[in-house]
Amino acid sequence: MLILMHPDATRQQIDAVRDRIKEIGLEPHEIPGSMRVAIGITGNQGALSPELFTHFGGVAECVPVSQPYKLVSREVKPEPTIVEVGDVRIGDGGLAVIAGPCSVESRDQVFRAAEAVAQSGVKLFRGGAFKPRTSPYAFQGLKQEGLKLLDEVRSEFGLRIVTEVKDAETLNEVAQVADVLQIGARNMQNFTLLENAGRLRMPVLLKRGMSATLKELFMAAEYLLSLGNFEVILCERGIRTFETMTRNTFDLSAVVLIKHHSHLPVIADPSHGVGIDYAVPPLAKAAVLAGADGVMVEVHPEPDKALSDGQQSLTFDAYNKLAAELRDLTAWRTAHP
Ligand code: PEP
Ligand code: MN
Repeated sequence: MLILMHPDATRQQIDAVRDRIKEIGLEPHEIPGSMRVAIGITGNQGALSPELFTHFGGVAECVPVSQPYKLVSREVKPEPTIVEVGDVRIGDGGLAVIAGPCSVESRDQVFRAAEAVAQSGVKLFRGGAFKPRTSPYAFQGLKQEGLKLLDEVRSEFGLRIVTEVKDAETLNEVAQVADVLQIGARNMQNFTLLENAGRLRMPVLLKRGMSATLKELFMAAEYLLSLGNFEVILCERGIRTFETMTRNTFDLSAVVLIKHHSHLPVIADPSHGVGIDYAVPPLAKAAVLAGADGVMVEVHPEPDKALSDGQQSLTFDAYNKLAAELRDLTAWRTAHP
């Protein structure tokens, strides 16, 4: 159930409704909106009767919510959520580009990549310090040393940092350096990590699990929102199918469906979605036209020497060409709503 308050409802009226929700053993969630306050209710097993609240002062309407994901759904919040990272507004109709290497490998590597990204006019830099790898023998990231390098990148190049948090134990130290916390595909249903990140008040980029349905992605995001963190960006990064010529199958339809069913912004990650360098630019461009709020691409000064994901990393030349094309396409999209 969603309770829509009148635009001129007083704080007292809002609090009276919240208190009543708590009295009947349920959880109220005040949903940020530009025009008026809405209060989502969670914790109920069956449907709630609107009569419980319609007589309260300041209540405009009680709307049943049909989806199991409530706070994430457009039913509850029709207007798009805009997540602010520095002066980048993700979800406002523009295109946020996140670029950088898969992993932070060395000062030289990360500074060269950061310089190229900054020169292209992009403000969001990605790079993993803690890497969840399929093999325990593969490069696991520079960890704390990697975080220090990312901190230097921020001050040296004025870039905002998107970096992955691998577990609840390292959440606080990663959160001190990250401007956006990335929760990776392998951790989409790490509920302890989601609960801890939900208690923070900072942007989270939540990637779709490699075998997760969109409903499962929404439910994972619901953990974050239900704990009060509304600064959530969803990320389509490809799913497992029977196809073996690509690393994953990049699910472009997910971009369209996420925007339809949720108010949260969506970022497309064709690098992990397809896993092949030459296929990344066309899919990144397709994602813009499908309505993505942003695109994340892996870039490396020397992809052949990358310690992770070199096969899908763009050279600076390929990246610069793509960055310019993405700008043109975004302008075209704005002119053709
Ligand atoms: C990454 O972004 O480098 C990464 C590990 O992504 P995913 O969690 O989507 O595999
Ligand atoms: Mn990667």
